[in-house]
Amino acid sequence: MKAWRLKEFDKPLKYEEIPDPEIKDPTDVIIKIGGAGVCRTDLHLIEGVWDRALETPLPFTIGHENAGWVHQKGSGVTMFDVGDPVIVHPVASCGKCLSCRAGEDMHCENLVFPGLTTDGGYAEYLKTSERALIKLENDVKPEEVAPLADAGITAYRAVQRAAPLAKPGTKTLLMGMGGLGHIAVQLMREFGNSDIIALDTNEERLNMALEYGADHGVVAKDGMIEEVLNLSNNGNGIDLIIDLVGEDDTHANSMKMLKKGGSYFVVGYGGVLHVPSLDVINNEFSIIGSLVGNYNQLYELMQMHAKGKVRLHSTTYPMSKANEVLKMLDEGKINGRTVLVP
Ligand SMILES: [Zn+2]
Ligand SMILES: [Zn+2]
Repeated sequence: MKAWRLKEFDKPLKYEEIPDPEIKDPTDVIIKIGGAGVCRTDLHLIEGVWDRALETPLPFTIGHENAGWVHQKGSGVTMFDVGDPVIVHPVASCGKCLSCRAGEDMHCENLVFPGLTTDGGYAEYLKTSERALIKLENDVKPEEVAPLADAGITAYRAVQRAAPLAKPGTKTLLMGMGGLGHIAVQLMREFGNSDIIALDTNEERLNMALEYGADHGVVAKDGMIEEVLNLSNNGNGIDLIIDLVGEDDTHANSMKMLKKGGSYFVVGYGGVLHVPSLDVINNEFSIIGSLVGNYNQLYELMQMHAKGKVRLHSTTYPMSKANEVLKMLDEGKINGRTVLVP
């Protein structure tokens, strides 16, 4: 099959012929890819940002936001048949460790993460395990939902944790209205009761956020901290900040906008968070990291999508255009999400 291989850091991917994946364990499933979402994490993988943490041997195939059809299954697969349309939870978890038993797939001690620790979905076929699959509702096509497998559940988990704190009269700031942000706005609209302020550098993305349920859109530029604080009660700060960008300046700005007793959810990554411990205790800040989401959260999100409560703004491109699409993402030229279709 043809697959996009990461062969060297900081170089474009190579589109090459490699052997098809094979069933080895009884619970293995081979998915025929119907859509593979293009994610900022893919850029970070190409830059080598993840190499220190993962040490995945090169070359490998990237792509961790996958949906498609069951193509082959191992002898122990009982819940799915060949041809079933499915979305793929991004990790294949073991089901046996304590984290798995607690339902936290992302914390699995034996986790396999296609697209990060083994071959992913920028290809014709992908190997995962039965545990990762969720059947698509009636008419939903894989290419329409692939990014929900990561961008979607990452927004879902963060908002689900923040929403109980989003009471009437409180203010929530969502930073970054890209692939995750436009979903986070809709989820906060569904789950919370606070006023939602969307922040982004791009006015078109802010208009989309307003359409999806944000109460205010603020352009990220000089003077924005004051503009955001003016939207808070008596200028005293924002109760909840969900940072979907995670760069040095979004961390620093968040610490200037958070209210006493406020909560700061870090979802995007790449920067370094510097905050004096005196500020943390004196302001009683809660700083919370949030990583992707578990299987049940993806199931719940797919239910909301099927009922039209969450829409994914996405554009499809042929699989052969992966490098062009990654370049567009890097240059900030993408609204919502892009899906590669073989
Ligand atoms: Zn992703
Ligand atoms: Zn496990």
